[in-house]
Amino acid sequence: MFKYKKKLGQHFLRDKNIARKIVEIADIQENESVWEIGPGKGILTEELIRYKCDLTAFEIDKELIHTLQARFNKQVKLINQDILRTVWESFFPKGKIKIVSNLPYQITSPFLFKVASYSNKFSRIVIMIQKEVAQRLNAKVGTKEYGVLTLKMQYYFNIKYEFTVKPHLFNPPPKVDSAVIKLIPRINKPEIEDEPLFWKIIETSFRNRRKMLRNNLKTILSAEDLMKLSENFDLTLRGESLTESEFIKLYNLISIK
Ligand code: SAM
Repeated sequence: MFKYKKKLGQHFLRDKNIARKIVEIADIQENESVWEIGPGKGILTEELIRYKCDLTAFEIDKELIHTLQARFNKQVKLINQDILRTVWESFFPKGKIKIVSNLPYQITSPFLFKVASYSNKFSRIVIMIQKEVAQRLNAKVGTKEYGVLTLKMQYYFNIKYEFTVKPHLFNPPPKVDSAVIKLIPRINKPEIEDEPLFWKIIETSFRNRRKMLRNNLKTILSAEDLMKLSENFDLTLRGESLTESEFIKLYNLISIK
C-alpha cells in the first residue's frame, strides 16, 4: 500500500476530467517538448502521452518512479530528481518547452522564480497551485493580493487564472482550494538595465505595506535624494497603488540621480 508523503506535497488529483482540461489548456502539438513536474501516480501523464509529445517527467519519489516506469515504459523520460536541484540546462532541448504540472505546493515560489529566470526557454506553463498564490500572481494593482510576487511574475509572463479546483477532488484532500493558471512569456517585456536595483526598489516599497513610499524608501535613499525624488514623484503613495510602469518611472528617476 502506498503511503502518502505529506512533506512532498502528495495530493493526487482524482478527477480525470480536470486532468484533461489542464492538458487541453497547454495546447500541446505532436513532438513538442513537454516537462511534467511531479507526475505522482500519472493522472496528467496519461493525458499528456495522448498528444505524442516529447515528454520528460521529474519525480522526486523513488517509489513512484517504479510504478510510473511499469505503467508508461518508454513513452515518458522519467527523471528521479528534485526539480529544484536539477541542472535544468542539461535537459533543455533545441526548441521551447511547455510545462504542465500539478505542483507540490511547498516548492511553488522557488519553482516559479526558477522558471522566470529561464522564461525564454518556455512557450507555455500550465500549473495547478494554491488558489491564494494564484490570486497573488494574477492580482490587479491596488488590491490586497498585489505585491512583489505579482510584479515579478507579471514582468516575465502574461498570466491567466483558468479555474478553481476544490479539495475533495484530491486524495488526500489538501486544506485549501487550488487553481490552475496559465503563464505565457511576455513578448513586450520592458528592458531594465539594472534589474537588481529595480527589484530592490519594489521590495523596499512593499516592506511595510501601510507605509508611504517616502518612509519605506528612506532605508535605501538619503534624505537629500528623497527630497529631489519628491519633486518628480508623489512619495505619499503606497507601493500597492503603483503599476509596473510607475515603478519603472520611479526606478528611472532613482537610477539617473
Ligand atoms: N501529478 C500528480 C497528480 O496530479 O495527481 C501528483 C501531484 S502531487 C501535488 C506533487 C508530486 O510532486 C508528488 O508526486 C511528489 O512526490 C512530487 N514532488 C514533490 N516535490 C518534488 C520535487 N522537488 N521535485 C520533483 N517532484 C516533486
